[in-house]
Amino acid sequence: MPLEIVAVPALSDNYIWLVHDPASAETVVVDPGEAAPPLAAAADRGWTITQIWNTHWHPDHVGGNAAIRAATGATITGPAAEADKIGTLDVAVAQGDHVRIGAIVGDILAVGAHTAGHIAIHLPGEQILFTGDTLFAMGCGRLFEGVPADMFAAMAKLAALPGDTRVYCGHEYTVANGRYAVVAEPGNAAAQAALAEAERLRAAGRPTLPTTISAERATNPFMRAASPDELGARRRAKDDFTG
Ligand SMILES: [Zn+2]
Repeated sequence: MPLEIVAVPALSDNYIWLVHDPASAETVVVDPGEAAPPLAAAADRGWTITQIWNTHWHPDHVGGNAAIRAATGATITGPAAEADKIGTLDVAVAQGDHVRIGAIVGDILAVGAHTAGHIAIHLPGEQILFTGDTLFAMGCGRLFEGVPADMFAAMAKLAALPGDTRVYCGHEYTVANGRYAVVAEPGNAAAQAALAEAERLRAAGRPTLPTTISAERATNPFMRAASPDELGARRRAKDDFTG
């Protein structure tokens, strides 16, 4: 049976991902910026949260850790390099380590750039990827703790995953990212189509995620940047973009 994945909107524009494995009855919550929405979403479905996975230390991704653990006894796994900043980790992981939900194995990928210790979590057997604030649909995270070369390396690592990998990102930023993508690459028809589809979904009140690695290869101006310098120039332009 495939994993069931639920988008739980939280804070202003975060998505907390609730991941349920019917085979083992395990439920993982990814990047809980707050506790109440994922606890309620799990309870509605008769699921008990058994684990929390964090991609990076920012409070809008870890703020619900302690309360969810207090309510459920869940085990918290996150990046070793940010264990001190997070403060609530039970298990610290780095590149090459693994996480498990039931019998399903996930690989830890180091993608530091948005924060220095940021990780992504790839479940190759399920073709699922959690990217936190590193890769967004048609976007990437701001460079708070890294330089363009770090994000360029992270984009290359994620772009190398199988094209049909479904990508679950930490925020609903797709429309704003798409408006910049069609300016960064005016001739990119795939980006124009993806922006139109994202606008249609948001007008209907629906999430634009997950995206896929193949869609990002075709539309994402940061994944498509030819060099760290080009990525850096686009990142600076996006920081100031109000279109
Ligand atoms: Zn962040």
